[in-house]
Amino acid sequence: MLIYKKVSDISPYLASCREKGQSIGFVPTMGALHAGHISLISRSKEVNDLTVCSIFVNPTQFNNREDFEKYPKTIGSDIDQLEKSGCDIVFLPSENEIYPADMGINHYDLGYLETVLEGKYRPGHFQGVCQVVDRLLDIVNPDNLYLGRKDYQQCMVIKKLVEIAGFGTHIEICDTIREKDGLAMSSRNARLNPEERIQALAIFRTLTRLRQGLHPGNLASLLADAVKELESQGFRVDYVALADARNLEILDHWDGQTPVVALVAAFIGAVRLIDNDSIFP
Ligand code: AMP
Repeated sequence: MLIYKKVSDISPYLASCREKGQSIGFVPTMGALHAGHISLISRSKEVNDLTVCSIFVNPTQFNNREDFEKYPKTIGSDIDQLEKSGCDIVFLPSENEIYPADMGINHYDLGYLETVLEGKYRPGHFQGVCQVVDRLLDIVNPDNLYLGRKDYQQCMVIKKLVEIAGFGTHIEICDTIREKDGLAMSSRNARLNPEERIQALAIFRTLTRLRQGLHPGNLASLLADAVKELESQGFRVDYVALADARNLEILDHWDGQTPVVALVAAFIGAVRLIDNDSIFP
């Protein structure tokens, strides 16, 4: 497995691979890798000649200083897992490599997507996501990009970025990998203490109840019960929402036909967790 730290080394290397006709799959991450990340690497390996994984904790997508500072860092274990997974190339850039002083800051017109759910509760977050993904796609220039459905809205944002910026990259969205008890794997789970880890299960329970309780008509009481369930487990809820799975338009009322995704964001202690489930069809 090759490890690169400099844009001036990885970019020409990947360009030479491309010239030889090798296809490139790319998995961008912020490290503290778990089986969810590795599932993306495995999928990339099935389809591409070369798989590149980047690890970069992107400061511009954190709207909360403490969240950035406490973001778990496990680089030794990350490299071990990537080696075992058969990943071909790891890119570990410094902040200067991603954001050199002479590079301007782009603004991306994400429209409605930036005004709801994560966009609303984490102002500026998706601009940061677009800045880093734009830069990484420029550096790696992959044929295929692998993203986790766990970050449902982020997948939609990155699809829009690829469209706006005119990258030729194909995007594949991969299923959320969960712990045996249903908790979605997340690097932030490492910050939960044993009691919080048990309380965190309420998120998956809530998504299950939303799936079971979904019915045509007004959704207010179903949603209010879901918030109550989370609060009773000690969560501070940012949102519990049912939305049109195609465009994230928020549903107060369901017609029995529209595809529905349930989305949750809530704090347990200082740790903010998100999860979602496509509950209809
Ligand atoms: P992160 O390191 O959290 O920025 O995530 C890097 C990539 O891994 C993103 O595309 C995430 O959506 C994806 N990912 C994170 N957690 C999971 C999971 N539990 N299952 C599948 N993909 C995931």
